[in-house]
Amino acid sequence: VFDVLIVGGGPAGAAAAIYAARKGIATGVLAERFGGQVLDTMAIENFVSVQETEGPKFATALEQHVKSYEVDIMNVQRADTLIPGKILQVKTASGATLKAKSIVLATGARWREINVPGEKEYRNQGVAYCPHCDGPLFKGKRVAVIGGGNSGVEAAIDLAGLVSHVTLIEFAAELRADAVLQRKLNSLRNVTIITSAQTTEVLGDGKKVNGLNYKDLKSGTINKVELEGVFVQIGLVPNTEWLKGTLALSRHGEIEVDAKGQTSIPGVFAAGDVTTTPFKQIVIAVGEGAKASLSAFDYLIRNTFD
Ligand code: FAD
Repeated sequence: VFDVLIVGGGPAGAAAAIYAARKGIATGVLAERFGGQVLDTMAIENFVSVQETEGPKFATALEQHVKSYEVDIMNVQRADTLIPGKILQVKTASGATLKAKSIVLATGARWREINVPGEKEYRNQGVAYCPHCDGPLFKGKRVAVIGGGNSGVEAAIDLAGLVSHVTLIEFAAELRADAVLQRKLNSLRNVTIITSAQTTEVLGDGKKVNGLNYKDLKSGTINKVELEGVFVQIGLVPNTEWLKGTLALSRHGEIEVDAKGQTSIPGVFAAGDVTTTPFKQIVIAVGEGAKASLSAFDYLIRNTFD
């Protein structure tokens, strides 16, 4: 029986593991892909105290730091079911059952993709998903933001202050963002808004993005926009499909947590991109992971289990 079982091996899970192991308690990490989203990241320039690094390098450093403690790492294993109880249980896709006195859920999230030709080929070569992360790479250049919901309009406003021009592309006939954001967007002189437009292809020269095609849904014509970057902002999907019906999730599917990382199930804590905590960033996930782990330890010393 683990004292703390952490599900997820991204920045949040790794931080939780280090904080738990340093208490000298039995700690396990179950991860489908140790490292998480940072494995798919090129440059990281906003992890405070590290001026610049690369995603895979950061992931290796996470793993080495965790492995310097006595932590049972179960990699390439997917959690399938969480069973509440005084002793909590996690069943894996491979059929194993893990038992724990407390759990930290840190299964992260994934960006929804537009699924058009060029998107995958030019990922990190002009196709980006995180304005806080990659915005500065496009300083003075032309970009498009795909998606006219709150995150798309926020991204367009944010990027307009950095880049030379932003084209916002929305599939529906109107933007879906809050009125206050739309007013702000409309006041910016270097933003063009195109509605009723379906992005059909991200174009490039084989190395980098140089444009995109969209279909005007009113006329049916295909139009081209010349640019250097495309930010896809059509939603961040939390990895909580396996938890539906087990604990409280927000309407976006994020695990609801309080200020201590406590979920709706006693002894179960959560951290990082999978939770309702705003702003999905490595430095935030790491802090939340540490916090959830300390909360789990606090729970352990206040409870008896036999
Ligand atoms: P994740 O990193 O998503 O890790 C989740 C972990 O849970 C993984 O190990 C995964 O395999 C595992 N998992 C999921 N489901 C299950 C399951 N059912 N069972 C077992 N394990 C499971 N942030 C920055 O701060 N700076 C940047 O420059 C930056 N650039 C980015 C670039 C890209 C392309 C992307 C995609 C993201 C970027 N981010 C950046 C965001 C950052 O990567 C995330 O905020 C951070 O990784 C969140 O950490 P996490 O531990 O909460 O989740």
